[in-house]
Amino acid sequence: MGEAPFGVENIDGAGQVVIVCDHASNRIPESWGDLGLPPAARETHIAWDPGALAVSLRLAARLDAPLIFSTVSRLVIDMNRPLGSPTLIPAMSETTPIPGNANLTPADRRHRIEAIYSPYHAAIDQLIGKVAARRVVAGLPPPSVVAIHSFTPIFKGVWRPWQAGVIHDTDDRLSRLVLARLSADPALSVAENEPYVPAEEVYFTLERHALGHGLMNVMIEIRNDEVQTCESQDVWARRIAEAIAGATGPGSAGGHDEANPAIDGTAAKTPEIRQHQGGSQ
Ligand SMILES: [Zn+2]
Repeated sequence: MGEAPFGVENIDGAGQVVIVCDHASNRIPESWGDLGLPPAARETHIAWDPGALAVSLRLAARLDAPLIFSTVSRLVIDMNRPLGSPTLIPAMSETTPIPGNANLTPADRRHRIEAIYSPYHAAIDQLIGKVAARRVVAGLPPPSVVAIHSFTPIFKGVWRPWQAGVIHDTDDRLSRLVLARLSADPALSVAENEPYVPAEEVYFTLERHALGHGLMNVMIEIRNDEVQTCESQDVWARRIAEAIAGATGPGSAGGHDEANPAIDGTAAKTPEIRQHQGGSQ
């Protein structure tokens, strides 16, 4: 298949979080041709999350966080779905039929799982395991996992008013602090569990790699018209970095005192963040 189905940046990053970007790429590896789609369709949100990788890279730099991302389009196989999901290999995405995904044989499906999906998830396991082990040795709390996505402003003809959504499942320790910090900006419209809820199977990667291991986790969805330029990607990376640094820093739920949900409004600008601002892209 050529290129690996995942990429890792800043593997030795010493920050508290690991960043995951499931829909980072619209690349369709050669073996699957163009899936029967014209080039224009392969550029749209049905193939990937535009802007998500750019924000993730900037966030990784600001938080000194390891980042793992997919290098294959979700149209070939969606990394953020359980194996039994009907949208794992979508024959229809939003309103676009995907000819190359119609009438797949069990062997076709197995090949995509073995060549792309399984190595991607094994690499996430390996990365988080490595970071967790490193932190144990250093006497630090376990890492948190942050998933970055982007969503289309108009879905099936309906406008989505939120600039970003903060999504969580049963463990909201990190999400509620991140949501509170992002919502503190009156200029921003940030919603809880929008535009999706975990019941729509969108929380799979975090369930598998964080929730199931007791690691704090949050999924952040940014409306993709908000992250089309380098400048706006920088703005969102800074916002999210400050929210996460505040939520995971000393005295927060992500620090050693999990019983203290206090948001003091100052922890968002820690020396660590200032130190890394110069290193962002
Ligand atoms: Zn996504």
